[in-house]
Amino acid sequence: MSDCIFCKIVRGDIPSPRVLEGDDWIAIRDINPAAPVHVLVIPKKAIATLNDLAPGDAELVGGLFLIAKRLMKEMGHSDYRTVFNCGPGAQQSVFHLHLHVLAGRSFAWPPG
Ligand code: 5GP
Repeated sequence: MSDCIFCKIVRGDIPSPRVLEGDDWIAIRDINPAAPVHVLVIPKKAIATLNDLAPGDAELVGGLFLIAKRLMKEMGHSDYRTVFNCGPGAQQSVFHLHLHVLAGRSFAWPPG
């Protein structure tokens, strides 16, 4: 786990400018954005997927949505999408939990 790309970014081994940072999380821009605004909110704790959550993670993970709300308010977006991909079949590619926050265009439903 500690060698995953987001662990390296969290530790600063790989430089990645922070949009915001808290004690337990960072927010960075996605390197391959799927919308005009595409931020990843990443807990510093290395949790691989939603399937690996423990009850003690509830506050940490729930708090990611409050960060999304704060980011979107600061960036001037009231309409946006938040996504956790869980597992390869749902297109998760980095196995360190992260919340996608996307804005700046219209979104279709259901997602692809
Ligand atoms: P997933 O596919 O796991 O749900 O999302 C991983 C996201 O991380 C992808 O949207 C991908 O573009 C992004 N990503 C992968 N490597 C890096 C990186 O080194 N820096 C940043 N900022 N984003 C990354």
